[in-house]
Amino acid sequence: MTLPDAGSAAFQTLDAAALLVALPDPVAHLGADGQVTLNRAAQARVAQYSATGDWMALFQASSVPAIRDAVQAALGGETRQVTVQVVDTAAPGLLTVAPASGGALLHLHVARDPLEVALELMDGLGLGMTVQAPDTRILLANDAAARILGMTREQLLGRDSMDPEWRAVHPDGTDFPGETHPSVQALRTLQVQREVPMGVYHPQEQDWRWLQVTAIPRRAPGATQPKQVTTVFADVTEKQAMQTEMRRRERRYRSLVRATSQIVWDAFPDGDFQPPQAEWEAFTGQTPAQYRGVGWLDAIHPDDRAHTLAEWQRAVRDGDVYSVEHRLRRADGQYVPMQVRAVPVTDERGQLGEWVGTHSDLSAIREAEQALRALNAELEGRVQQRTEDLARVTRFSTLLLTAAGEGIFGLDGRGVTTFANPAAARMLGYSVERMIGQPQHDLVHHHHEDGRPYALAECPIHQTLRDGQTRRVERDVMWHAQGHAVPVAYVVTPTHDEQGQPSGAVVMVQDITERIRAQEQLQELIEDLERSNQDLEQFAYVASHDLQEPLRTVGSYTELLARRYRGQLDPRADQYLHFMQDAVDRMRSLIQDLLGFARLSRADLTLTPVALDDLMRGVQQNVRGTLDADGSLLTWDTPDQVMGQASLLTQLLTNLVSNGLKFHRPGEAAHVQVTSRREGDMIHVQVRDNGIGIAPEYHARIFEIFQRLHRRETYAGNGMGLAICRKITEHHGGRIWLDSTPDQGSTFHLTLPAVPS
Ligand code: ADP
Repeated sequence: MTLPDAGSAAFQTLDAAALLVALPDPVAHLGADGQVTLNRAAQARVAQYSATGDWMALFQASSVPAIRDAVQAALGGETRQVTVQVVDTAAPGLLTVAPASGGALLHLHVARDPLEVALELMDGLGLGMTVQAPDTRILLANDAAARILGMTREQLLGRDSMDPEWRAVHPDGTDFPGETHPSVQALRTLQVQREVPMGVYHPQEQDWRWLQVTAIPRRAPGATQPKQVTTVFADVTEKQAMQTEMRRRERRYRSLVRATSQIVWDAFPDGDFQPPQAEWEAFTGQTPAQYRGVGWLDAIHPDDRAHTLAEWQRAVRDGDVYSVEHRLRRADGQYVPMQVRAVPVTDERGQLGEWVGTHSDLSAIREAEQALRALNAELEGRVQQRTEDLARVTRFSTLLLTAAGEGIFGLDGRGVTTFANPAAARMLGYSVERMIGQPQHDLVHHHHEDGRPYALAECPIHQTLRDGQTRRVERDVMWHAQGHAVPVAYVVTPTHDEQGQPSGAVVMVQDITERIRAQEQLQELIEDLERSNQDLEQFAYVASHDLQEPLRTVGSYTELLARRYRGQLDPRADQYLHFMQDAVDRMRSLIQDLLGFARLSRADLTLTPVALDDLMRGVQQNVRGTLDADGSLLTWDTPDQVMGQASLLTQLLTNLVSNGLKFHRPGEAAHVQVTSRREGDMIHVQVRDNGIGIAPEYHARIFEIFQRLHRRETYAGNGMGLAICRKITEHHGGRIWLDSTPDQGSTFHLTLPAVPS
């Protein structure tokens, strides 16, 4: 190519050498002698490729012949321009070769490599970029790549994707092997690999960074093999973290809303309610066609529609929080009280994006409120009831205290009277007011009955104040206001404060003047009775004893009279004699019994163990005559032993058995059974007969002396037997009684002390 001469007058004056040196493009001067001079830019560039500074090393071999031609032409005085391929540079260079001072001046203009431009551009955007050779060796890398990957560019260059130093993972944490790296995939498939997420270990931060990697394969036009692969990647670690956080927050918010609400819904900024509203549908059973627009109002209780709509319109108009309560119809037709809230949600530009609303079921709260109200009412009722009870109790206790016949004192811990009832005041001749506030002991309890001073230490009331023990005192005195002693019995009960500590005592005092008098009277009565009993016994003894003598005389003479004159007088006189003899016999037996009864006294009783069986054998002997005479029967089952005096017990049992044999029903043989069994400390003996029985009204009387129920002509006897039985039993410490049904028989019961085991 030949250019027209562009020389101009102005350039003639410039210092060409200085210009050449400063030019950023490489310039070389070829002297006529073959000497090569390079400007600064050229020196720097050549130094990259040739240690010896060989200028031609800048160019690819294919460009060398054209350059030689151009130099020849310049040496011949002709200026030429040739397009050349510079080593390692994709863009072609324009080499201008011009004749200069007998030599040639070469000027190389290299367009900037678009890759380099791209690397720089990506750098400016903060994106990492690398260019890799088909064998995945990194040829170029920008600063951002170095920064993102945590290495220097020098460390990056030359490394290939299979280098075991790489540590990469998929988002799920699994390993990301080098042979699957997007750049390797792009090389293999010649397909662009877009936005592949990849975690890469950052050796400086010792942490993982999240990258989004895009790999673009390059091949020469027409070639089937890839030439290079360009990989661009962004560090999305922060974005990722933010998204995760936002997703987490969203999830949390959703679950929170779900946990507290029944329904979450959304609406357009203008308040339009549009499908899908899955939760609304599920709850209300409305179809999208039914709730669309303002159709949702149909699901609200007719009475609540007006205020709901008004509030919704207001909120939408003002872009303000929507808050309302209404009843919402559930799919089953039931209205559920709901708390409704919605807030306008703005986007990042501050524009109203949507409404998000919630319906929360209030039934539980309403029920709780209801229950609470009911509980409150019940509590109030109970408090009132309790107050009334208390008032009643208080009234009752006051009444009780006032009405009580016993004197009641309340004492504090020091023994000072804190209250006294009217009976206490009456009993001791003081007014209630006079007693309250006084030390009780000093006022009414200062002396013993015999006039000795009553020391506080011996006072049972004060002992209780000290030790909190309840005490009962049967006999003591308190002093009347008029100076005389009042005999009293009292109970001291400790009182306690709320913490359970002894706080004082209550003393209930009984005036026992009357009781003492009654006791004394009783004692006198007993003594009188004992005395008269003794007198009577004495009298009975003396009488029967002294009556024996004249009776013996009468008896002897009657006997004499009878023997000597029987048959000599008239028959009537004989009969009279017979009557007399009979009466004397009876009188004798009466007197003997009476004497026996009177002689019986507790004092001469000697108790020894006695087998009832032995006694019964004696009894059988005693009644043998009766048994032999009329075919009566006596049986016994008496395995026990008793403490007693054998002679008296034999008499006792003989009396009972012979009564049983005697009082049999006419025409029927008597059968008497005796049994015994132990009952605690006593032996219970029963004497049962099958005789005429005794009417209940006589059960007590027959044990008294001379008491009989029959004429002597019918059943012989003098009415002393059971009286003696009772005396013997009681002297042994036992008891005698009977049960009987007239015409069916009687059972006499008695208890006697058992032999101590
Ligand atoms: P006596 O047998 O000498 O009359 P008791 O004192 O033994 O006197 O009895 C008093 C009365 O009790 C008897 O007269 C009789 O009327 C009645 N009596 C006693 N034992 C029996 C009995 N086993 N069955 C019916 N009556 C009895």
